[in-house]
This record gives sequence, C-alpha cells and structure tokens, in this order.
Amino acid sequence: MNQNLYLQFSGNFERHPDKVLIDTPSGERYRYRDVLSTSRRMATVLRESGVEPGDRVVVQVDKSPQAIMLYLACLQTGAVYLPLNTAYTEAEVEYFLTDAEPRVYVCRPQDLEIAQRLAERCGVAVVESLGADVDGSLMERVGNAEEDSRLADLEANDLASILYTSGTTGRSKGAMLSHGNLAANSQALAQTWQFTADDHLLHALPIFHTHGLFVACNIILTVGASMTFLPKLDAEQLLDLMPGATALMGVPTFYTRLLASPRLNRETTANMRLFVSGSAPLLAETHHEFHQRTGHAILERYGMTETNMNTSNPYDGERRPGTVGFALPGSEVRITERESGRTLPAGETGLVEVRGPNVFQGYWRMPEKTASEFRDDGFFITGDLGLIDDDGYLHIVGRDKDLVISGGYNVYPKEIEQWIDELPQVMESAVIGVAHPDLGEGVTAAVVLKAGESLDESQVLAALKDKVARYKQPKRVFFIDSLPRNVMGKVQKNALRERYADIYL
Ligand code: ATP
Ligand code: MG
Repeated sequence: MNQNLYLQFSGNFERHPDKVLIDTPSGERYRYRDVLSTSRRMATVLRESGVEPGDRVVVQVDKSPQAIMLYLACLQTGAVYLPLNTAYTEAEVEYFLTDAEPRVYVCRPQDLEIAQRLAERCGVAVVESLGADVDGSLMERVGNAEEDSRLADLEANDLASILYTSGTTGRSKGAMLSHGNLAANSQALAQTWQFTADDHLLHALPIFHTHGLFVACNIILTVGASMTFLPKLDAEQLLDLMPGATALMGVPTFYTRLLASPRLNRETTANMRLFVSGSAPLLAETHHEFHQRTGHAILERYGMTETNMNTSNPYDGERRPGTVGFALPGSEVRITERESGRTLPAGETGLVEVRGPNVFQGYWRMPEKTASEFRDDGFFITGDLGLIDDDGYLHIVGRDKDLVISGGYNVYPKEIEQWIDELPQVMESAVIGVAHPDLGEGVTAAVVLKAGESLDESQVLAALKDKVARYKQPKRVFFIDSLPRNVMGKVQKNALRERYADIYL
C-alpha cells in the first residue's frame, strides 16, 4: 500500500473542497480546492524541472500559504522538501546546497541573483523564486501549468523532508524525516490534543522549523481544520484574532509577549480551547501568570528536529508547570546513565532517550554521527538531560552539552537558574560553564532583571548561599539586558560562553 504522507491529508480535499484551509490578515483566503489545484500545478512544474522521487527541493522563502502548497507538491511528487531559514548568509546557504545537492532551489524574488550565482557554484540545475505576495518565477510557471493529479507511490521509510537542526549547539545537521515519521507523529498529536475539523489555529511560527511546519501544518491537514497564517509574532494581532480561533502554538516568547499586553484576559481568550508551548523551556512563572490571567493552562510539549514530538502534558489531567509531560502514544522515553547506558529510576537525572515511529532515519550523509547517537536497541540519544518524576512527568533540565563540570562535579544549569529566577527582582537567567584554571569550568550566571529593579552580584550570591551546595554556586554573576535568543526562542548559550570566555583566565 502507498505510504505517502499525502494520503493522510487527501481525504479532506475531497470531503470539503469549499472550506477555507488558510487565510491571512491581509484578506487572502485559500479553500481546500484552491490549495489542491495550485499544489498539483506546482507538482507539474517540479516534474517538468526534472524532479523525481528522492530528489531534494530546497525552499528558502518568506512565510506564505504558497510555501505550504509547494510542500504538498513535493509530497505528491515524492520529492524531499528541504526548507531553510531566510536569515542564512550566502556562505551558509552554500554549505546547505553543497551538502543537500538539490535538483531545485526556490529563493525569494529579491535573492534571485545571489541564488543563481550559488546554484552555479553548487551545481543546482533549476532556480525559481517565490515571494510572499503570490509572486516570483515559480508562480508564473504555475499559472501556465496543468494540474498533475498523480501521486508518488512510496514506502513508509522514504524521505519526505530533510530539516536542518537549529544549530544551537554547533553546526546544523540535516535530519532525514520519512513519510512514516511525519504521518505517525501528526496522528499522535492530533489525537492527544483532540484536534478536529472544527479547529482554527493561529499560526505565527516560522515554517522552516519542525514546530511551525510539521507540528502545526500537518495536524491541521490531517484533521481537515483551518488556520490563519501570520508573518510573525505580534501579540496585539493574536489578541485581535483570538475570538475567531480555537488554538495557538507558540514558543515561550509568545506567552511572555501576550502577558505583556493588558488586553490578555478571560474575555479575549474565551473562544480558545488550547495554548501549546514548546521548542524551549517555558518558565513555570509564565505558566502560572497565564493561568491566572486567562484561566487557561498552557500545554507544554517536548520535541526536536530529529524526532518530531516526543512527549506532551496531558490534554485532560494535570498540566504540570516546568515539565513536558508523558511520552506520546506509540513513543517511549527513558533516562539513562551516560557512561553505562543503564536505565535510571524515577527522580534521577540522566540522558533523555526516545524510541518510536517518530524517530528520524538518521543525519543526512553523516552515517558515523548517526550511529553514535543510537543505542543498539533503537533508542535515540537526544542530547538533552532530564528526569522522570514519581508521577511519570518528564522534566528537561538542560542540554548535555550545557552541563557544567566544575571541580569534577556535575552542575545542572537549570537547578541554579531556578533559584536565581525565584528572586523577585529577576526576570530570567542563564547559567553556563566558563573555562577556569583551577576548576576546569567555573559556574557563571547571566541575569536579566525586571524593569525598574536593581540587584548586585553579592546579593545574588548571598541568596544562593543556603540554597545550593558550594560547588554549584556561581563564581561570577553578570547582569545583561536580555538573553541572546534565536527565532525559536532558544537561549544561545554558545554566545554567552564566548562573551565570558576569558573572565577567569
Ligand atoms: P542543534 O541540535 O543544531 O544544536 P537545537 O537542538 O536547538 O539545535 P531543534 O531541533 O530545533 O534544534 O531543538 C530541539 C531542542 O529544543 C531539544 O533538544 C531541547 O533541548 C529543546 N526543547 C524543545 N522543546 C523543549 C521544551 N518544552 N523544554 C525544554 N527544551 C525544549
Ligand atoms: Mg539538537
């Protein structure tokens, strides 16, 4: 039987062709029938460009409904959809094009010249452009193309996408995701979060990352629901649209921005049934404040490019702040000791490992790296550290690479950050390890204060004195205006480590 992910969506195009699938604040409305027709014409353009099943199509464009139609066209033709952040520089794109060897590279209209130059250097046969205003050379070709309704016949392990990781801990790696991976995960999520055709999602995430592309769009396409595409996070715009929506998916920054608006309250959120947070840790304080203001408990989940989503807080039942809940149906999570690989009991911190139909096929053209991140029994070593509490909730305590080893002792940054964040003057903090002549690494804290508050280094140190063992206490505390974050709201600890690299030397 054909295992093409597209078959998980296609029934909805037949069931309700006149229903709107995507709309935008500027008044564009695309019905299921429109999306189907354009994607089939895009499929024609791809096939005319020589794209065959397994060929990569690199898409580096601004967010638009047409980009989703192109994603669907790739599924239909069996091409491997490979979206890239538009923020990448020419040199970075060159790396991705050389690494991925795509047949087609779709860029923004304003980048066409650079793109053609790059394509020539990297041996990419076809370059097209796609703008956010239904413009660009691709749309011109689509306008003249016939619909192609053929569907590539695929196995569950055939690739649907290569998605590069966010590059938080080093160079981005291409994660190979199969049709089976994506189909299984969107089904598990739709079921766990009780999505139906009646839902309307506010979509303000980028679509070059797993959260906005696969979590958000694949769920909507699976259940036959609808969504509003917003170019970027704008809290006031989200509040304007909430009365006509039922769900929002965001990174933690979405929720702190919404909290900053006096308009966020029970009335403005009365029509909403679900607020999801992920991609970076949500502060327990944000969860509590949001609950107080709106009556809604934000549902936090945990995932990564390589695995799609792994765990989620429950839809019914306690959504426990500071945790990421339980393994999704069909997936397994365990905590292991780093050295021995032994599974650890509840309450003990170790490596987070996952196994299930959601886990990727490996890193693109990195067989050794892939092999070293998998255990013999098929569990993938996520690179995150965590613990499972007595009630089965998973707590992420940070990344293995961010673990600080000071004087031979392990210091988990999150533990120290939580104590610092409890100080009433503090908005947030990041704890890192910085090279230290005696200790190997010195525990170092970067602290952001709430507006109008003041605090000095000695006060922070004094507050931690009775709270944590001496070896865990920061050697230095710095105050900064904001933590360096990428577009997915992830704190760039690498940038902090660089900034403070020589303070103990
Ligand atoms: P790279 O792998 O290139 O260093 P990255 O890991 O940031 O980048 P992504 O795949 O986008 O790239 O992010 C996955 C990571 O995000 C997870 O491994 C985890 O560290 C973090 N993460 C996701 N959701 C949560 C969450 N709810 N709480 C804490 N951390 C989270
Ligand atoms: Mg990662």
